[in-house]
Amino acid sequence: MALLTILHYPDPRLRIHARPITAVGVETRRLIADLLETMYAAPGIGLAATQVGLDQRLIVVDVSENNDAPCAFINPEILARDGKEKSQEGCLSVPGVFEEVERAERIRVRALDRDGKRVEFDADGLLAVCIQHEIDHLDGKLFVDYLSELKRLRIRKKLEKEQRETHERSATAAPAI
Ligand code: ZN
Repeated sequence: MALLTILHYPDPRLRIHARPITAVGVETRRLIADLLETMYAAPGIGLAATQVGLDQRLIVVDVSENNDAPCAFINPEILARDGKEKSQEGCLSVPGVFEEVERAERIRVRALDRDGKRVEFDADGLLAVCIQHEIDHLDGKLFVDYLSELKRLRIRKKLEKEQRETHERSATAAPAI
């Protein structure tokens, strides 16, 4: 297993529209294990393949309290949406930012599981929020896109400044020759 690097907003690679996975095999299962490990280490409750720069429709989710219910959904689709609910969201690709987003309260989801078997289920609460958030990632959409332009610009500037500072710090840490 390996920890993958999570891309940060406004990295353009977060904007790709990921391609469906055509065959679920050993490679897919290895990637699922890596995504889960990366998500738990972050720590987070959901991660999409596009967040680590991969062009594949694959998400992992675990909304359990004890991190003991890992789920992987391949080529996930939302078949139906019902109701509306606002909740506070964060994102591993937009660190340190939490904002209220309105999403469907209940959803019906279709996907393939890690064995390539088709699953269909209803989700509500945190699981519904998480799945909608992660499927957005596969379509190149981030939760900051639901905010006002002014707010989004402020977040972008803050993150760009932090990334610059991290870069400068690592530059000074390099050995002098
Ligand atoms: Zn996210």
